[in-house]
Amino acid sequence: MKKKTIKDIRLDNKKVLVRVDYNVSLGEDFKIADDFRIRQTLTTLDYLSKKGCTIFLLSHLGRPEGLKNKDFSLKPVAQHLQKILGRKVFFFDKDITDANARKELSSFNKGEIVLLENIRFYKQEEENDQQFAQNLAGLADIFVNDAFGVSHRVHASTVGVTQFLPSVAGLLLEKEVKVISQALNKPKRPLVAIIGGAKAEDKITLVGKLLEKADYCLVGGGTANTFLSAWGYKVGQSKVYHEMVELAKKLFWKASRRNTAMLLPTDVVLGNLKEKTTNGVVDVEKIPASWQALDIGPKTQAEFGNAIAKANTIIWNGPMGVFEKQEFKNGTEFIYWAIAQNSQSLSIIGGGDTISALKKKEYLKVIDHVSTGGGAMLEFIEQGTLPGIQALEDK
Ligand code: AMP
Repeated sequence: MKKKTIKDIRLDNKKVLVRVDYNVSLGEDFKIADDFRIRQTLTTLDYLSKKGCTIFLLSHLGRPEGLKNKDFSLKPVAQHLQKILGRKVFFFDKDITDANARKELSSFNKGEIVLLENIRFYKQEEENDQQFAQNLAGLADIFVNDAFGVSHRVHASTVGVTQFLPSVAGLLLEKEVKVISQALNKPKRPLVAIIGGAKAEDKITLVGKLLEKADYCLVGGGTANTFLSAWGYKVGQSKVYHEMVELAKKLFWKASRRNTAMLLPTDVVLGNLKEKTTNGVVDVEKIPASWQALDIGPKTQAEFGNAIAKANTIIWNGPMGVFEKQEFKNGTEFIYWAIAQNSQSLSIIGGGDTISALKKKEYLKVIDHVSTGGGAMLEFIEQGTLPGIQALEDK
């Protein structure tokens, strides 16, 4: 990475403001359901602690839309972080637009860790308000961005603050950028890209970009339905993004020009989400008018599996079906299994859903890199950088 990281600057005993992405899922009892994103920042926290830094952590949680809302409080995160670090983590929930509260923050001692309350409780955060950003900057000597997952957002705590403080990358951000860039720009071939999920607007553009880089592009999930429709198949009640169909057609040409094998499902699992019923597996040319395609079928699994077995690099974003329902999770589970069988490949997966789709945690161990970013990973693949990364100091 051409940007400075915390290893490139003097940090001894400094106050550092660290943007992290602790946007974790909470259970009904406000317990942390999955602390993956928290654990991923421990390397940076450990490094800063060893340098004697006072650490102010900034994060958002959910979408409180600029309003205080205790359902989105980071307090449970502070408690959890304290437990996994085995040391005191202060939680600071006073209004940081108030000068007295900021003064209170300045009295924390060397080496202490403080997590501030949800930064999205302030509407100024998403507006990238300059005064707010400056107030944030006033809390510390150095800004560290360790939040790959929000670096595609131009917010006060990702971009605004960098105008007022020396700003460098944390070790997680550095790792994310390094691994994803290497897989895209210097991949060991064949490079197999797997795209699923439902947000076809984003995903179809992504397929366009990956067709330029990958040797195989496997398209499943809801995204595949728009491609199947563009190819001329009738997909029943499945959601098709009609405004994207023309682009999808162009991508078939692009794939053939670039010699990229684009694989679409050849069979699908039928279902009806409203009535919560399934209706078995059919070939894609036989999808009945009243049903939806909600997962890839076994023939498609075998075809996708063949490509995955040949891969030396794998990038995956988005589930192959409606994995939240038992009946439609097999396709996604199969992809995990297939990647796990291919031990020689470098594998990268991203997207909150792709990760939560994985119930069998042992598969996660065989994935080389699990990105903390979903949307950010997509934008990074498309643009080659992100606003929150651009804003950091160059080496
Ligand atoms: P995304 O955020 O775009 O990766 O989409 C994730 C969502 O896609 C999950 O909630 C899945 O249930 C949904 N999904 C995957 N496959 C399908 C499909 N064939 N039809 C409808 N939704 C799907």
